[in-house]
Amino acid sequence: MPCSFCGKPQREGKTLIQSPANQPCPQCQTPGQVFICQDCVQHCARFLEGQPHIQEPVAAPTEPLPTPPEIKAVLDQYVIGQERAKKVLSVAVHNHYKRVFSGRDLTHVELEKGNVMLIGATGTGKTLLAKSLANILHVPFAIADATTVTEAGYVGEDVENVVLKLLQASDFNLARAQIGIIYIDEIDKISRKSESASITRDVSGEGVQQALLKLVEGTVCNIPPKGGRKHPEQEFLRVDTANVLFICGGAFVGLDEFIAQRTNQKRLGFEADSNAKDPKAVDSLMDRVRPEDLLKYGLIPEFVGRFPILSTLQDLDVDDMVRVMTEPKNAIIKQYQALFELEDVHLNFTPEAIREVAEQAISMKTGARALRSILEDLMLDLMYDVPALKGVKEIIINHDVVTGKAKPRLLRKSA
Ligand code: ADP
Repeated sequence: MPCSFCGKPQREGKTLIQSPANQPCPQCQTPGQVFICQDCVQHCARFLEGQPHIQEPVAAPTEPLPTPPEIKAVLDQYVIGQERAKKVLSVAVHNHYKRVFSGRDLTHVELEKGNVMLIGATGTGKTLLAKSLANILHVPFAIADATTVTEAGYVGEDVENVVLKLLQASDFNLARAQIGIIYIDEIDKISRKSESASITRDVSGEGVQQALLKLVEGTVCNIPPKGGRKHPEQEFLRVDTANVLFICGGAFVGLDEFIAQRTNQKRLGFEADSNAKDPKAVDSLMDRVRPEDLLKYGLIPEFVGRFPILSTLQDLDVDDMVRVMTEPKNAIIKQYQALFELEDVHLNFTPEAIREVAEQAISMKTGARALRSILEDLMLDLMYDVPALKGVKEIIINHDVVTGKAKPRLLRKSA
């Protein structure tokens, strides 16, 4: 009897395995008529050994999964305010990894993945939250910008590139990449222009949502091993995104108006809130966001459906900005102080100076992002001059220094 794969007859001393009796031959339909020889089985085993396996590699957790309060406690060390978002994310991430690491019924996990949509203005901490979560869980993290992703076949970044970034972040460790976190920024920018299908509708936005949808739902992407261009003969890394946690973020400017429309209907026809553009009023409207508001905004239902967890972030006020500069473990002012401390120079900001920086940042309307650029400008000359000066023991930065009316005061060691 020949082997059905290589066609060679059975050789002495070698096993020939017959297919189960109820398995008919694909050609003649006779039951139990397919055979495979020992050599072919061994060849297949060697081939499979070299292949990344799609289902099996769920990286084992290196330590016990932190509880939601433990996750939030670490987030508190880095992220100011955003109490509700921190709580929602702590629970979402805990649940996600509990399912992934349980190793049970993984197909079911795929269906119930709790991807998260974060809604909040620029510089309110969306990326910071997502990145901090990956650090806490010790999983790889990648950031993608939805506006650079294009539908397959168009010029731009393929969705596969998003997965490639995760592979790179895990040093091409497939098992780890497959349990990573991908943050997709500017998701609001790929909304179609109107909810109803019409000529005004932005087809490319919808196409990108469709392309991302596959990734978010869980798909196997073929990635060239070193991320180069695809060649037909090249062996791909097959990355399954079923257990990857997706966190999307967007500012969704104007979403408050859809929420106002919807909630006002329920308020028995009261006039739309005339304070709707007061930041606090906008924040409280945004807190009431529902999936249907995102549909009105232009996200497609299938996409919204894949993000069962919605959370809003508040705009940071002056007090928050002050805290961002001074409180987190890696607070920017602490970093400057540590740098000068290395030269035995004590850097001192007066409370009024810090408040002035915060107020200037608010007026720039890019959230806490503005803080770094304001402080970098302020510190540049000092960072340049002080290492070359002898005997400086303290630098004092007051309100007038921040407004440009005075120079920083340098106190010198007494001789
Ligand atoms: P977003 O993604 O919402 O646009 P980011 O998370 O990128 O904003 O924030 C930009 C920077 O501003 C962060 O790296 C961080 O230094 C700071 N920042 C923003 N929000 C916060 C916050 N709530 N707490 C602490 N730092 C923050």
